[in-house]
This record gives sequence, C-alpha cells and structure tokens, in this order.
Amino acid sequence: MTPEDAYRDALAWFRSNWNPQLPLRDWWQLLADSGWGFPAWPEAFFGKGLDAAGGKAVARARREVGAFGGPQGIATMMVGPTLMEVGTPAQQQRYLPAIANGSEIWCQLFSEPGAGSDLAGVQTRAVRDGDEWIVNGQKVWTSGGHYARWAILVARTDSDVPKHAGLSFFLIDMDQPGVEVRPLRQMTGTAEFNEVFLTDARVRHDNLVGELGGGWGVALRLLGHERDSLDADADVSGIQGDLDLGAPAGSFVGGGTNPGADDGTGPFALTQGQGAMDLVTELLADADRTGDAVARQWAASVATQVRLARYNAGSLPASAGKLAATHLLREVRDVSLRLLGPGGTLTGPDAARDGLVAEMALFSPGLSIAGGTDEIQRNILGERDLGLPPEPRVDKHVPFRELNQPGGRD
Ligand SMILES: Cc1cc2nc3c(=O)[nH]c(=O)nc-3n(C[C@H](O)[C@H](O)[C@H](O)COP(=O)(O)OP(=O)(O)OC[C@H]3O[C@@H](n4cnc5c(N)ncnc54)[C@H](O)[C@@H]3O)c2cc1C
Repeated sequence: MTPEDAYRDALAWFRSNWNPQLPLRDWWQLLADSGWGFPAWPEAFFGKGLDAAGGKAVARARREVGAFGGPQGIATMMVGPTLMEVGTPAQQQRYLPAIANGSEIWCQLFSEPGAGSDLAGVQTRAVRDGDEWIVNGQKVWTSGGHYARWAILVARTDSDVPKHAGLSFFLIDMDQPGVEVRPLRQMTGTAEFNEVFLTDARVRHDNLVGELGGGWGVALRLLGHERDSLDADADVSGIQGDLDLGAPAGSFVGGGTNPGADDGTGPFALTQGQGAMDLVTELLADADRTGDAVARQWAASVATQVRLARYNAGSLPASAGKLAATHLLREVRDVSLRLLGPGGTLTGPDAARDGLVAEMALFSPGLSIAGGTDEIQRNILGERDLGLPPEPRVDKHVPFRELNQPGGRD
C-alpha cells in the first residue's frame, strides 16, 4: 500500500470510528483490534503491515480528524516490536494484547550508575533458582518506573565469559516485594525518572527472552527500535502515562483535562514533527514577525528538517534519525526562546503555551542522552554504517569477573 493509499484509507476509518465519548480503554481496544493504532506493526500483531512512511501517513490522517492516538511509550516503541521478533509464542500471547491496548505499562531497567553508554558493563546479577531467577542490583534513570507494571531487564547471568556474552534479557514483574522504586526529580521540576533497587527480586524462567547469555543481542535489537521511534517526524501524541482509562478519549485531546497523557502538546511533542512546525509558526505570529525575513528563515529551517524526516522515513539508519531529532529539538528550543524573549523563561499558566516552552528548553539536553548519547550514535554510524575502524575495546575478550570494576571480581 502506498503512503497515499494508507492516508486515504486511514482518513476514512478515523472519520467513521473516532468517538470522543468512548472511554479511553475502549478507544484503545478499537485501535488495537482494527490495526489503525499501530499500522506499521505486522497484521498478525495488531497492525496493518505498513512501512514507516505508511505509518506516518496514517498518523497524519488521525491528527487531521483530531482523534487521540494509541498508547505510546516504552511498551509500544520497544517492548512490543522486540517480542514480535524474538519472543516465544507464549510471551507474545501473554504480553502483546495488553501492550497494544495500553492496559499494561512497561519500563526499561537497563542503565546503572556504572553502566550507561557502556551498557554491557551492567552489574545487576540474576542467579538461577529452580524455575526462577533471583535478581540483585541497582538500576537508574528508569523512566516511568513509578507506574510501570512490567519491565525489561538486562542482567548478568555469567561472569566467567566476556562482558557482552554473559548478559540475559528478562521480563520482570515490577509489582513484587524485591522491587523498590525511588523517584528522581529533574530540572524541569517533574520526577519522571527513578532509581530502582532489586533485592532478591524474582523472574520466572519462562520470562527469559532469547537465549540464556544472548541478552546483548536482544538489547541491541530493542535499542534499534528505540532509535527508530525517535526521528524528527516522530508521532508523539498519545504518550502513555498513569492514565484514567475510564475517562472519555476526547478528554485527552488538545491539552486535555486528564493528567498523565501527552496528546501531542507536551514538551516533547512540541519539538518533533507537526508539533514543532505548529509551535514555531504560532510563535512567529504571536511575536508579529511573520514578515520578518530572518525569523521566517528560522521557521523554514524547522519545516525543512521535519519534511526531510518525513521524506526519509524508514530509509535512514536509526542513529541518523535520532541525531536529526536531537538537532531539531535544540533548534526549536533556540528559535522559540528567540521569538519569546525573556517571556520564554516563564513557567505556569500565564506563560506562553502554559510554560511548556520553558519546560521543553529544560528538557532538551535529555533527548541527546536518552536511548544512547549523540556521541554514541555517531560511533554507531561510524562503525556500522561507514565502516570506520572500531574504537579500541581492551575488555572485549576478558572474562567479566577479571575486569577491574566493582562487582567484576567476586
Ligand atoms: C530522558 C532520559 C530518559 C532515560 N530513560 C531511561 C530508561 O527508561 N531506562 C534506562 O535504563 N535508562 C534510561 N536513560 C539513561 C540513558 O540511557 C543513559 O543516560 C545514557 O545511555 C548515557 O549513559 P550515562 O548517563 O551513564 O552516561 P555515560 O555513559 O557515563 O556518558 C558520559 C559522557 O561520555 C560520553 N561517552 C561515553 N562513552 C563514550 C564513547 N565510547 N565514545 C564517545 N563518547 C562517550 C557520553 O556521550 C556522555 O557525553 C534515560 C536518560 C534520559 C536522559
């Protein structure tokens, strides 16, 4: 199906089916059952089997109708697509329906105080105990950990092999006594991140994803999906928070009255795709500078980047798409603050866009770090896409136990 066909079919479907009175729970179920919530997913798994350009065309049709999007977040961006590729049929059957209809929220237990860019250095250990694994360690920067029901976990299951070979990938229940979640406050004022302490937490063996010791490969696959979902034309409406699923779906649209959802007007949505173009155009008009040649160039640059991202959908390496998104975010921040002047630093309901511009400016460094820093994306592009010589990695063939780091030696 061409993107034009997808756009036309989606427009017809959203026009006949969008009902703002439906409880969010029912609307999301309808999106999952129809395949229009995640059109780029396979038809066997709540999708329509469209390519990335087709998926973006559907998102445009949905926005045109003003319908609220499907649940977005770690579950749909990363966990779902990874389970579709490498999950067992039992895992797919158990977890995918609740991911597609947004009834179960997921978080990502990857980063640790000593393992971020060097993710393969994680110290959290999982030790087999019959049909279960017992997990001990500390994770950090866990977005949404305070409301997640499930988590994806990378843990060390073998310290006698080199660090990449001794990792396994698990699905862990957050709702158990061994999991303690402590919020971390960010400079935006909100506390989206957490530290997560795992003390004799338990994971059933059938929640191992991929091979035992094959966690690095599964994690790389998942991180590729994360980068894929973060391009400069990302569809960021409908982001999942701790939502009241019984509230009318229409109450989440256009700023909404329900906390927890980002319906495409939150700080992140303002920086990508249509949201970025709308924000800059609106601020240009508010500042009475639509006739100012210099300011118009700023807006044109933002629009060009979004259109290029749309044009390149699915054809760029994921790292290049993510770098384009971080670049666009910084540019939208700078243009917005230039147009608003000192008013751009204000927060609260009297400020422009209810203070979202200031929040976006404070959030902006985060996207250059989340999902792998800009430097790491450039390393990936250099090594995997340009074929440049790899960085020296002196610990690559050394058993993890022998590495000189805390927890590396027993
Ligand atoms: C908004 C946001 C959300 C996040 N959500 C989650 C989450 O839900 N779950 C989760 O597990 N983690 C999450 N993270 C953590 C994120 O994945 C890590 O912060 C990131 O991978 C960087 O790791 P680090 O903070 O340990 O920095 P470090 O790895 O210590 O890096 C420090 C600096 O050194 C540079 N650097 C490191 N290695 C190299 C290298 N080889 N070459 C060149 N430069 C290098 C980095 O680019 C960076 O500038 C989130 C982070 C942010 C900002």
